[in-house]
Amino acid sequence: MFASTMQDVELSVLQLFQHGRSIHAGSTVTTWSGDKPVTASYADIGANADRLASALSSLGVVPGDRVGTFCWNNQHHLEAYLAVPSMGAVLHTLNIRLFPEQLAYVINHAEDRVLIVDASLAPLLAKVRSKLSTVEHILTVGEGDFDDLGETIDYHQLIRSHDPTFGYPTVPERSAAAVCYTSGTTGNPKGVAYSQRSIFIHSLGVTGAQSMAFTEADRILLIVPMFHAMAWGMPYAGWMVGADLILPGPHLQAAPLADIIETVRPTYSGAVPTVLNDLLHNRPTADLSSLREIICGGSAVPTSLMQAYDDTYGVTVTQAWGMTETSPLAAIARPPKNQGDEALKWRSKTGRTLPGVEIRICDDAGTVLPNDGSAQGEIEIRGPWVTGSYVHDTAEEKFHDGWLRTGDVGTITADGFIQISDRAKDVIKSGGEWISSVDLENLLMSHPGVREAAVIGIPDDRWDERPLACIVPMSGAAPAPEALREHLQGHVAKWWLPERFCAVEEIPKTSVGKFDKKVLRAQYAAGELPGIED
Ligand code: ADP
Repeated sequence: MFASTMQDVELSVLQLFQHGRSIHAGSTVTTWSGDKPVTASYADIGANADRLASALSSLGVVPGDRVGTFCWNNQHHLEAYLAVPSMGAVLHTLNIRLFPEQLAYVINHAEDRVLIVDASLAPLLAKVRSKLSTVEHILTVGEGDFDDLGETIDYHQLIRSHDPTFGYPTVPERSAAAVCYTSGTTGNPKGVAYSQRSIFIHSLGVTGAQSMAFTEADRILLIVPMFHAMAWGMPYAGWMVGADLILPGPHLQAAPLADIIETVRPTYSGAVPTVLNDLLHNRPTADLSSLREIICGGSAVPTSLMQAYDDTYGVTVTQAWGMTETSPLAAIARPPKNQGDEALKWRSKTGRTLPGVEIRICDDAGTVLPNDGSAQGEIEIRGPWVTGSYVHDTAEEKFHDGWLRTGDVGTITADGFIQISDRAKDVIKSGGEWISSVDLENLLMSHPGVREAAVIGIPDDRWDERPLACIVPMSGAAPAPEALREHLQGHVAKWWLPERFCAVEEIPKTSVGKFDKKVLRAQYAAGELPGIED
């Protein structure tokens, strides 16, 4: 081997923290507190993060210890994002929407020693306090009743009483910096531990020009919760380039989001389709003209939603794909060059991977299939910001020759465009052939009378399984099955057309806002899904 002459500098969260605060000291972070924005500079937030690191250290936190956050997207959550990994400890972002048993499970499993909790979320944490076996200190943020949490420490007083001088250690780049648990739609949540290095490289990936292309001129509204897949990496990537960050706190409903956007004028945002759908239906007249792009993912983004954002707001919604296990950004659906009018067609695909991330598809026997746009199989992925195991769990069934099995089924074209047709566990197998629920949902949601659609497989004597389409009609609409089938006709194979439809008030959602098909299947089995008559 011919040795390189490059310096061997460890990559870390500390590096991106120090870079942002020194080069972009005047950039700002704005937290929405009800009806008005509260703004602090990067310099102030950096100093608070230093104080937090000193305070945690005085409480006995040492490199490797886990510090949990139970917080909305707000300023002190960002301070913890910066301070905890920079001091070599491990930030554990707790999903506030987990069931109590799961919440207790993940805190105990990660062995969190300290928790930082928002006043408004304290009652949720109090429910599991007696079950937490490793937590020694709870820091509370804001005013509230914390009696049910036992002994607590006021975050603000604590950091005020510590100096903004902290000697950050040099931390090995392959050590853990942050932990996120998957939302555990099946079984217990599984922990993914990002390294100092993976966060740094992923942040570069997120800022890249063919990716989210962040610069210091951006004002990024972080709608995706910082407790879900690190808010898609946007806090670190934004901080790295000195973009202004806008944090909506608990105000994630359509009306406050529209107010925030009109008042604070972000240039960039990211959200799951459910949130964008909600905004569209409840605030179609909002002024979103400050946004240059909204990144959308977490589940397939309906083409009709992208079209509606083009038409209603003049804002481009760009689809991305990723998982907690992939930091999470893995692919983004930027149309190839010179596509002109065809752009929407490409935006509707799942995307192409970022450099460094590799994908392939495999059949049930593990044979690698060709990237020809038609062979369909499970997508496998590897790369420097893709997990290779889970916390305290090698989970061998989730890996194949060093590649992560994503559980997503789809195709890949020769030029790398991924199209996901389903999650493996949601696949509908009719007469031995796959029907894509994602395709059917996408088409159904483009019908003017349909607000949301989720398609599940239900048992069928003849075909093993057939699709059942669950529809949330637009208010005042009642689309008939025949009209819906007609709408699908010609766009999918005839044998894909669902015989059965049912109207529901809402599609059940998981803790991170995805269609919860497990619940739909259980409702169907319990005879709870009313059919729409022809
Ligand atoms: P969970 O597995 O608990 O839902 P994640 O938030 O990590 O947690 O979800 C990752 C999954 O979300 C992916 O495996 C995929 O099924 C789905 N997903 C994310 N983005 C997209 C997309 N653009 N299109 C289709 N599915 C997506």
